[in-house]
Amino acid sequence: MAKIYRDVDASLEPLKGKTIAVIGYGIQGRAQALNLRDSGLNVILGLRRGGKSWDQAVAEGFRVFEIGQAVAKADVVMVLIPDMEQPKVWEEQIEPNLKPGTVVDFAHGFNIHFGLIKPPPNVDVVMVAPKGPGRAVREEYLSGRGVPALVAVYQNYSGRAMEYALAIAKGIGATRAGVIETTFAEETETDLIGEQTVLVGGLMELIKKGFETLVELGYQPEVAYFEVLNEAKLIMDLIWQRGIYGMLNGVSDTAKYGGLTVGPKIIDESVKQRMREAAARVRSGEFAKEWVTEYNRGGPTLRKLMEEVKNHQIEKVGIEMRRLLFGQ
Ligand code: NAD
Ligand code: MG
Ligand code: MG
Ligand code: MG
Ligand code: MG
Repeated sequence: MAKIYRDVDASLEPLKGKTIAVIGYGIQGRAQALNLRDSGLNVILGLRRGGKSWDQAVAEGFRVFEIGQAVAKADVVMVLIPDMEQPKVWEEQIEPNLKPGTVVDFAHGFNIHFGLIKPPPNVDVVMVAPKGPGRAVREEYLSGRGVPALVAVYQNYSGRAMEYALAIAKGIGATRAGVIETTFAEETETDLIGEQTVLVGGLMELIKKGFETLVELGYQPEVAYFEVLNEAKLIMDLIWQRGIYGMLNGVSDTAKYGGLTVGPKIIDESVKQRMREAAARVRSGEFAKEWVTEYNRGGPTLRKLMEEVKNHQIEKVGIEMRRLLFGQ
């Protein structure tokens, strides 16, 4: 059984009287900084001077510094800028200003796990990774709840790294929902494997292939859109609320029987074999290397692939159908 921490298992005490520098004021940075401050902790921000969030952070009552200055003042540094931007900012502005004994916190393990950031030995390195959209981190906190999170320790210089991680998790409200202990390797690899094979990659291709199949058989694209894309949300909501068995009990017997007998022929063992291949590329670091190279070239392949999706028939039909559905 995974180790799960609740509010009573964590204390803010390790962070009391400490200065927490949140680096970045984007989706996670803003939500986490506001929650930590509302939890009674001392939060400053490290941002780019002249960047567009500087004025917003000042207007929202924070003391704002350039990244290096904020790090130099901090006992805890929370690295909440985009993953692909972190290595350069780390090297130039964060690492040279770290005091021995600083707690460095990440919200995703990518750079540490794949060795793109190599922390010095005299700091704690922890992770508090919210498992939910960034916006919910603030909204849930304000309504007295929290977004669950994963916590991990990569480097325990102080001997108290997990206490610090749990204190951060409590400060952002995550322990209200529940926090699961993991490792940087597990968080990073499951995140990448999951998004590639199921969440982003798998789901998108399943829907597109289903749509193409119906349209190629001569059915109307609008009808195909409703069947394979719009209804996918209704099925997913049932799975989310009740589990797969519960979803099956929520559809017709015809859908149950057809799904149970035909599904495994569509998504068969060969799919799982290719999922294992994708997982192997993640675990070996081959995917990370490919993506960092692509990013540093300015993302030409990503742009081309995004353009292809934008031009797919399901997107053109979707714009019309969502106008009907939501008045967009
Ligand atoms: P984001 O895209 O919202 O950007 C964060 C901030 O970084 C912005 O204020 C931006 O101005 C600043 N920034 C960008 N490039 C910079 C640079 N070169 N130098 C200085 N500042 C720069 O980022 P995010 O989605 O909040 O992600 C931050 C971290 O949180 C990442 O490690 C990410 O994996 C993790 N995370 C995000 C989510 C989410 O829902 N967005 C969920 C869990 C974990
Ligand atoms: Mg993920
Ligand atoms: Mg991810
Ligand atoms: Mg149907
Ligand atoms: Mg049906």
